[in-house]
Amino acid sequence: MAACSQAAEPPPAAPPAGPAENEITATSLVAHLRMLSSDLFEGRAPATRGGQLTVEYLATQMAALGLQPAGDNGTFFQQVPIVESTVDRTFALSVPGATYRYRQDVVAFSGVETPRVQVQGDVVFVGYGINAPELKWNDYAGADVKGKWVLIMVNDPPAPADEPTLFGGPALTYYGRWTYKYEEAARQGAAGALLIHTDESATYPWQVVQSSWTGTQYMLPPEPGTPALGIKAWMTESAARDLAKRGGRDLDALRTAASARGFKAVPLNIRAAATLQQRSTRKTAANVVAKLPGTNDQQAVVFTAHWDHFGMRDPLPGEPADADRIFNGAYDNASGCAGLIELARAMARAPQKPARSMYFAFVTAEESGLLGSEYFVAHPPIPPAQIAANLNVDGLNYLGPTTDMVQLGSDRSTLGPMLEAILRERGRTLGKDTHPERGYFFRSDHFPFAKAGVPALSISEPKEFTGPNAAALLQKQEAYNGKDYHQPSDQYDRSWDFSGAVEDLKVLGQLAWRIAAAPGMPGYNEGDQFANARK
Ligand SMILES: [Zn+2]
Repeated sequence: MAACSQAAEPPPAAPPAGPAENEITATSLVAHLRMLSSDLFEGRAPATRGGQLTVEYLATQMAALGLQPAGDNGTFFQQVPIVESTVDRTFALSVPGATYRYRQDVVAFSGVETPRVQVQGDVVFVGYGINAPELKWNDYAGADVKGKWVLIMVNDPPAPADEPTLFGGPALTYYGRWTYKYEEAARQGAAGALLIHTDESATYPWQVVQSSWTGTQYMLPPEPGTPALGIKAWMTESAARDLAKRGGRDLDALRTAASARGFKAVPLNIRAAATLQQRSTRKTAANVVAKLPGTNDQQAVVFTAHWDHFGMRDPLPGEPADADRIFNGAYDNASGCAGLIELARAMARAPQKPARSMYFAFVTAEESGLLGSEYFVAHPPIPPAQIAANLNVDGLNYLGPTTDMVQLGSDRSTLGPMLEAILRERGRTLGKDTHPERGYFFRSDHFPFAKAGVPALSISEPKEFTGPNAAALLQKQEAYNGKDYHQPSDQYDRSWDFSGAVEDLKVLGQLAWRIAAAPGMPGYNEGDQFANARK
């Protein structure tokens, strides 16, 4: 080749690394959302015809984009076993001299599938029932609860004046959630757990406990070798007070003592017995799992969105025949599924492969207690230690452009600063969870990933709408939460504006791309409750 003295033309600029963002459009998003939330899909309940249609639709979309199946046996489907059980109303909890009645005083369900579960044993008051080594707090220290009942307070212990950020200060930590209380009691070997209900600590009245925990319950079958509680119960405050008194103790004094570090569990001088009869059946519903292999297929970023919703409700007496009984779940979470399809296309059509692989998991049975995502994390296509991050979409903004983006978990891990940098480049800001005391971080499909130590984010409602109607849009958002959330009226409306959601999805795509390309794995911040899970 002849030497050339002139400066060479610069080579054509390489296309910018990242997903093919322009593939993400509101038109396409709405098309998928309308289909998934149409009456034809019958409210997408797991293990129903509508649920089956949903997973077939999602798998078809993934196949059409050329993604690889990453479910069972080379399919897009990961079959999730679901135990459906109903407790017989004959349940009662007895102590010498008193019987606490089902519904009035106590509600109960089981962590095992056997039709008849019997628990008989001493009762130990374990305060908040928390074992948090990183906070030097262990309510079970020195206590023997094997095969016994534990009586537990819900919520976090209060933060003392000299330690105002203990247990998150005003924010709710996972140690405060009722799910944690049962999990820890099982790990400690208890046979039964009794949570003390108060309106204040639970943030809802006893009637809500009654309606939520009687009737059909759903769970994953217990994993072999994993401890499970025979009986999980809630008690009214007055029943718990009576129980403590019969055990020789004053409940208020016990609770005061339990609020300070160094509290020791108190065995009550009483035995309790209960027999729980239940009808259990197993059902199966699938997670749809697809993969876009990266140049490093040993590690991955996992997107999640739950596809399930509540199906159809039975007709009410005297209701007109044409009453709307279908829970379409357009926002919750047809919008998130549609968003994942858009992201999958943007990734599949990117000019280059991502570094770490991208998984798209449309998970089932979120509304029955995050069962699909929990199963995915327990039976992952790639070990959780190799999952760089989980990005969850549960509800997309349908109200138009915003300057802010809010993601639950952004304050917990190194994902937060990465997200903030992308938003800044785009002239946007990272908003905050405005209600940390409500514990929303523990209530969607990213959470099983967090428990396994995988840094996770879940998109939440923005607050900074642009334009002259900003105040009205905020009101509309509030109105949805009050009136349409988890109701048949959560259905597609032609006035919905997904232009803000499209921008959010582009941010998510870019974030996933950078997480996939980062030299190291992201991690939880030092001292975070989930920082030690994968160490
Ligand atoms: Zn949802």
